Amino acid sequence: MPKAVVLFSGGLDSILACALMQEQNVSLTALHFLPPFHPLPKKDERFLPRKMAHQLGIPLKIIPLRQEYISLIKNPRYGYGAGMNPCIDCRIYILTLARNFMERIGADFVVTGEVLGERPMSQHRQAMELIERKSGLTGRLLRPLSAKLLEPTWPETQGLINREKLLAIQGRSRKPQMELAAKFGIREYPNPAGGCLLTDKIFARRLREALAHGEETVRELKLLRIGRHFRLNSGRKVIVGRNERENRIINNLSRPADTILEPVDIPGPTVLLLNSTSEEDTLTAARICARYSDCKQMSEVKVGVRDKIFLVSPIEDDKIRNFRID
Ligand code: SF4
Repeated sequence: MPKAVVLFSGGLDSILACALMQEQNVSLTALHFLPPFHPLPKKDERFLPRKMAHQLGIPLKIIPLRQEYISLIKNPRYGYGAGMNPCIDCRIYILTLARNFMERIGADFVVTGEVLGERPMSQHRQAMELIERKSGLTGRLLRPLSAKLLEPTWPETQGLINREKLLAIQGRSRKPQMELAAKFGIREYPNPAGGCLLTDKIFARRLREALAHGEETVRELKLLRIGRHFRLNSGRKVIVGRNERENRIINNLSRPADTILEPVDIPGPTVLLLNSTSEEDTLTAARICARYSDCKQMSEVKVGVRDKIFLVSPIEDDKIRNFRID
């Protein structure tokens, strides 16, 4: 029985790639890579890759991408797309990890749900060939949805995989995939996700600004996905939660070197003063916290900071504008 590792986002393309491989009796192990720039999943999508892999009966391994990946984002050899998305470097990196995993478990090849021409930067023919070569997977990278439009791979030439049963899908239309899903009896699959935040121009601005201030740990970059962001005159950052979920995440991602602020006795945001406990920064952060509380029209608002309570006036709109990052 041939053995393969599949890159598994939990989206329709990767589900279909798995189904096509299972049709040919390939034993699969799925890898789901989790970059710090992954959009926050909606409530009902939180365990989606796990759920989809379970439905297919495939073991799934979730691999968070950390500091090495962030270094790659900062300095990609093959440049960025429309935002700060270094898709070619990103694919090479992820597929290199997949190759290492393939070798470790003694699998024969790697499978992806990539479709020729579906994504402008990394899924045109030249880019796909480059990615395959640079990740050390020449001949061992099978893209079943578009395989008939690409060079035959090692598992095909060795007779492990029947090329005739592979497909020749290309382009951005989702119709062929939806028809294929119906053929396989796959009724439940996620809508195309919001995608990678690195392709988002507003997020890219936030990210550039953070990197320019030396904020580049996984935690600091995860925080870019949520809240309103402000840069104080001291160079420190303030993040204001916009809802209960963001408030909770801010609390979870805070560290002893930060300051957490919350309005006392009235509804309002959780505010994070990142990497600072200075009194001046804390006071400004408290005024920002008061501004976004439910009592922003009052002349003074109580804001709790650790075991103290500050009585502060909400910061004026024209002042806060100077601090806003986006
Ligand atoms: S869109 Fe994002 S996750 Fe996808 S290849 Fe590009 S940089 Fe990587």
